[in-house]
This record gives sequence, C-alpha cells and structure tokens, in this order.
Amino acid sequence: MAKGRPMISESDLKLSESLGKIKHVIIVISGKGGVGKSTVSSNLALSLAMKGLRTGIMDVDIHGPNIPKMFNLENEQMLVEDEKLVPVMASNGLKVMSMAFLLPEKDAPVAWRGPVKMGAIRQFLEDVAWGELDYLVVDMPPGTGDEAISIIQLIPKADGMVVVTTPQDVALLDSRKSIVFSAQVKIPIIGIIENMSGFICPHCGERSDIFKTGGGERTAKEMDIQFLGRIPIEPAIVISSDSGTPIVASAPDSISAKAFMDIADKVIRTIG
Ligand code: ADP
Repeated sequence: MAKGRPMISESDLKLSESLGKIKHVIIVISGKGGVGKSTVSSNLALSLAMKGLRTGIMDVDIHGPNIPKMFNLENEQMLVEDEKLVPVMASNGLKVMSMAFLLPEKDAPVAWRGPVKMGAIRQFLEDVAWGELDYLVVDMPPGTGDEAISIIQLIPKADGMVVVTTPQDVALLDSRKSIVFSAQVKIPIIGIIENMSGFICPHCGERSDIFKTGGGERTAKEMDIQFLGRIPIEPAIVISSDSGTPIVASAPDSISAKAFMDIADKVIRTIG
C-alpha cells in the first residue's frame, strides 16, 4: 500500500457497498424508550414510500426490535441472495430490515456484551442488499449514551437525525441530551418531533391538551433547531401499529397521518 493512503478494511468496503446506493440516511433517536420513536420511524418511512420515494427502514433497536410488528412482518423469513440479506418488502415498496429477523429469541442481545453486540450490528449493516434507495430511515435504540454513539459510528454518511420527544419535562431534558449527542457524533439534527402532544378523542374528534404541550417546539426554538411537528395521542395509532399497518396508510385522513405526511415533506425539504 502506498505511503499516506488510508487503509480500507474489507469490512469498510462491504459497508460502503451495502449502503453505497442509498442517497440519504435519516437516523431517528429519542432520549428514552416509550416516547414513540419506532412509531415515528415507521410512519415517516411509509410516508416517504407513499410519496413514491424508494425507501428502506432499518431497525437497529436491539433492545426492542419491533419494526416488523408495525408492518405485520413478524413471521417473515429472511432471504439470502448472493451471500447478502434481502430486506423484506412491506406495502408501497418499503424495504424493511430488522435485527428481529435474525434473532431466534427476541430479547437475547440485551444480554450480549458490548463488543459482541456491536459486531452483530456491524455485520448486519454490511450484509444487507438494500439496492438503490432515496431514503433509509434508521430506528435507533432509545437513549443517547455510549451504546448509541457506538452504533451510530457504524452507520456512515448519515444526513441527519430526527429527535422524538414528548411534552413532559423529563422527556424535554432528554431532547436537550440529544443535542449534546448530535455534537458528539457530528451528525446534524434535522428537527424535533413532539409526539403524544394532546389527545384526540376517538368519539368527537376534539383535541384536548392533557399534558403540557408545546415544549418540544419551545426547546427547538431555544436550541435553534427546526420543529418538525406534533403528533397527538390518537388511539388509532396504537390500533394501526398493532394491526401491522401504520396510521399513514390505515387512516390517511386522520390528524396524525396528515401530521406525519407534513413532517416527511419537511424532512425532504431539509435534506433534499
Ligand atoms: P419507542 O420506540 O419510543 O419505545 P413506540 O413507538 O414503541 O415507542 O411506542 C410506544 C407505545 O406508544 C406503542 O404502543 C405505540 O403504539 C404507542 N404510541 C406511540 N405514539 C403514539 C401516539 N401518538 N398516540 C397513541 N399511541 C402512541
């Protein structure tokens, strides 16, 4: 090897081959679990696919890989072609890849030691045949600690991160942590989404603010970050996720579905 030329490992080559035909990578993070990160990831990815964009969703939430459930793909078998893993196809041509497809026991990796976990994720990233994609949405594990930093460093050329938060103050603290995280991993924040913001009554359709809302927007303003939108607590979101069709497809006229579509437009405008 010529002096001064950086060493490229076989693993790096495989990674750039696997992710090479993807135009944009969007990483979805949250400060803690249960704020709706996977719900946002799946609805954002499906919104992009429904707009005719070639989209994939990659679930690296090793602690609770529940993206297959959101698309009713839990019993799908992973296909291998030319020694590569072939993503499973959801509606609108959305390509889905999840650690869950590879795990015999769902929660086994939680017990894995750090290096084993990272090795598994890296191999998973290297060995997927995504093909040509306009957007790849990555559903990260919750949190902004060391594990998230290690995982994100395995994903080259991410365009930016979408932060999911809820109106409660604790979660807002988490969104501030995400801003510190962004600086640590050197990936810009595309914007903040305030999920579970107000409640839409399933009977009268009226909205009531059961928690303090608007905190996500306030934090965004304070931190000079784009506010992407708010998603209300809507019982239809739970039903649609549990039945395997995210709300953007199952109830496209609902307030939440329209909010997700608007958010997808803002993301497209922001990263091109
Ligand atoms: P996370 O990925 O952050 O752990 P999930 O996306 O799995 O969170 O969501 C946790 C639970 O909350 C799920 O049952 C999901 O259906 C529900 N949920 C998420 N967002 C909403 C919302 N806006 N309205 C109602 N339920 C929601």
